[in-house]
Amino acid sequence: MSSDHKESSYKQKNIELADLLTKQLIVSNEDFEKVSALLSKEFDRGLRSTEDSFVKMYLTYVRSLPNGEENGRFLALDLGGTNVRALLVEFHRSQSESSATESNQKQQQQEPQKGSIEIIDSSIETIPTEIFHGTGEQLFDFIAEFIIEFAFRNKLTGERIALGFSFSFPSIQKGIAEATLVTWTKTFNCSGVVGCDVVRLFKASLERKAHPSIPFIDVVAILNDTTGTLIYGALLDENCRIGLIVGTASNACYVEHSSRIEKWPSNYNDPEQMIINCECGAFGDNYVIDWALTCWDRQLNYESLNLNKQIHEKLISGMYLPELLRRCLLTLIELGIVFNGKTPIELLQPYSIRTRYMSHIDQDDENDKNNFPNTRIALTNIFNMKNPLFKNGFNDSDVKIIHMINRRITKRSANFVANALRTLANRIDNIDISIAYDGSLICLHPHYRCWVEEKLNEFIKTSEIKKRFRLIRANDGSLYGAAIVAAICDR
Ligand code: ADP
Ligand code: MG
Repeated sequence: MSSDHKESSYKQKNIELADLLTKQLIVSNEDFEKVSALLSKEFDRGLRSTEDSFVKMYLTYVRSLPNGEENGRFLALDLGGTNVRALLVEFHRSQSESSATESNQKQQQQEPQKGSIEIIDSSIETIPTEIFHGTGEQLFDFIAEFIIEFAFRNKLTGERIALGFSFSFPSIQKGIAEATLVTWTKTFNCSGVVGCDVVRLFKASLERKAHPSIPFIDVVAILNDTTGTLIYGALLDENCRIGLIVGTASNACYVEHSSRIEKWPSNYNDPEQMIINCECGAFGDNYVIDWALTCWDRQLNYESLNLNKQIHEKLISGMYLPELLRRCLLTLIELGIVFNGKTPIELLQPYSIRTRYMSHIDQDDENDKNNFPNTRIALTNIFNMKNPLFKNGFNDSDVKIIHMINRRITKRSANFVANALRTLANRIDNIDISIAYDGSLICLHPHYRCWVEEKLNEFIKTSEIKKRFRLIRANDGSLYGAAIVAAICDR
């Protein structure tokens, strides 16, 4: 055997070994049936009681969807990650459908338009670092000043303007404008807020900072980003019943019948429904899907800051996928299957790979004759090319293997999302179900959304009731949704 031939059969062996070792990242449809049944059970448990459940199924008190009767000007405020954002919109009560132009209807069938919302002004401001760790009063004074200044520059008139507050932190709601913060997440840790009603705190700041030349800002609703996404989707498509976020975190919400929400027995009047914020990232926190986890999922969980929490989210969200890739690669390196068994220093640092590189890698196709150009570029970004290991570029089999495991990890994430969606869809009577989505992973990854659709279609094939799904992008749903909910409250 020539040395070239030897080399190539050695590379082929590595590819086969890597394939075999990472097959555990492929979840069969049979296993997804089991996962779906378990998830459904957790949904039921959450609908019975928030205390005794892992998947919390929080009540949002958002019951009506937009119906075209929304009218007038509204404010929205979004407090999410690093920024605070404001929005001023005007709704125009919709004309009868027949008067909509054909091109308008066509547009609505494709990507979402702003529907009957007219955007008048928007503003964004970075939250200063000292505010993240200051007092609650400082935080709410800061955002009150921000929205008052925004109202001022828009020369708002009248006595009062309603505001929808998008607040994406786990909270227990007792009404549409009442939310007790359970815990801060992300970079926030303001004192004196956990256990308090954030709407009350915000209103107190608004009162302190009120300006005589602008109308009274009336906080009429508080909601999270998932709910906002669903509501915005419902403005774009009347069949929208599910909201989905896949970004740093992952979560979903849906419209549930009042009669099926056991823990909320009080109110069966019209409309007999409510949006339920599933917080389904916590599915698996009671170990029910441990059998579906790989060794890399387990390692990631053991060494995470939130041990045994957000197990489902750890399989799905953009925050964790690159960490799974890194851990999987380390295993293959240790076995000598990748990089000749040598570990590049960049891989030793947890959470060092950026999610967007996984999107770059997935731009290549495994059947491409082009030799994975995007994967090579992504690897050049991840690794320091001064490293002697890469002085001649990347070895063909390494590139192929990295592309394969990257794809298995992202595809598995999309499949788990599809599985959660069909499990939710089974609770909804409609045959046509539109799903509004937002979040950078599902929006920016080149194939993620298609993979979710493909898997949904596979699931339909074996299901008794043939639902028809449609995924609609609800860009900035958290902000638009807050304005829409404010308008619904004032309807
Ligand atoms: P958030 O979830 O914080 O509200 P986003 O929805 O924008 O914000 O999600 C940001 C997350 O999405 C990042 O933390 C990262 O995990 C992931 N992400 C960012 N850019 C990309 C990309 N190009 N492709 C895939 N995932 C991305
Ligand atoms: Mg977000």
